[in-house]
Amino acid sequence: MKRLAVLGHPVAHSRSPAMQNAALAELAKRGLEGQWVYEEPIDVPPEGFEGQVRAMAAADYVGANVTIPHKEAALSLADTKSPAAEAIGAANTLKFVSGRIHAENTDASGLLGALEGSVRGWRALVLGAGGAARAVVWALVSEGAEVEVWNRTAGRARDLCAELGGAPIDGPDAASYELLVNATAVGLHDEDPFDELPLSYTDLGPRQTVVDLVYGPTGTRLLAIAGHSGAKVVTGFEILVRQGARSLELWTGMGAPLDVMRAAVPG
Ligand code: NAP
Repeated sequence: MKRLAVLGHPVAHSRSPAMQNAALAELAKRGLEGQWVYEEPIDVPPEGFEGQVRAMAAADYVGANVTIPHKEAALSLADTKSPAAEAIGAANTLKFVSGRIHAENTDASGLLGALEGSVRGWRALVLGAGGAARAVVWALVSEGAEVEVWNRTAGRARDLCAELGGAPIDGPDAASYELLVNATAVGLHDEDPFDELPLSYTDLGPRQTVVDLVYGPTGTRLLAIAGHSGAKVVTGFEILVRQGARSLELWTGMGAPLDVMRAAVPG
């Protein structure tokens, strides 16, 4: 048995088991060897995280996804780390090989996959300076985009840029960017992004791509307005699917069935 699971605290809401088991069933039809299962989420508090991971690495687990609040701890306990995970300072994916633990961050590569094309030379505005924004900024800077970062607490944007690149900005002219990424939590509880973020309806238009990492069953207000304005929109669900796809590829060595994974995740 080749076992996978997601670790978090809390984690019961995770869509990863449904998405990954649908993908594994499809890969089995395409010749994936062995019997694979993505198990029920493992809710583990911070004090139990390292022991849990080491036990999984010693058992017949192939790997794991890691979510809040364990992404930094996952990086620090790993034996080997990808450049992305190391730079971002967090890992959302672990792979176990002969008891050794490898850490990867597929949030970054998942975002780039969802953008489907080069962002080199694009002017990008990233809203937020938390964990999600770190992966976004690192990904865009490493692909040659010209990145500016706004955050409600300006000092966090300055610190993030000092570490990862990009430039902090206080009063961005949102209409002037080709790419806008909402990496704040605004929209999670249906807050109005045009009240909380430095954006107005008239800033959005067909020249732009708008990404909202926030997701919900009915979509987000930001993407509804962006889509109406003619912008290309990328949903938080698509980012979720893409990061899961990169994790699956790391574990199995096979290309991920994106359509099957999208169909398994509502939204
Ligand atoms: P986090 O580390 O807690 O950071 C939260 C960010 O949101 C901070 O920049 C914070 O600003 C900002 N913020 C919160 N409330 C705000 C408000 N009312 N107005 C303006 N800014 C506000 O969280 P995270 O892990 O980065 O996650 C951010 C969002 O991305 C969450 O909604 C999460 O669900 C989503 N996410 C989605 C995916 C995906 O796969 N689609 C992956 C990761 C995360 P301050 O610094 O000023 O507090």
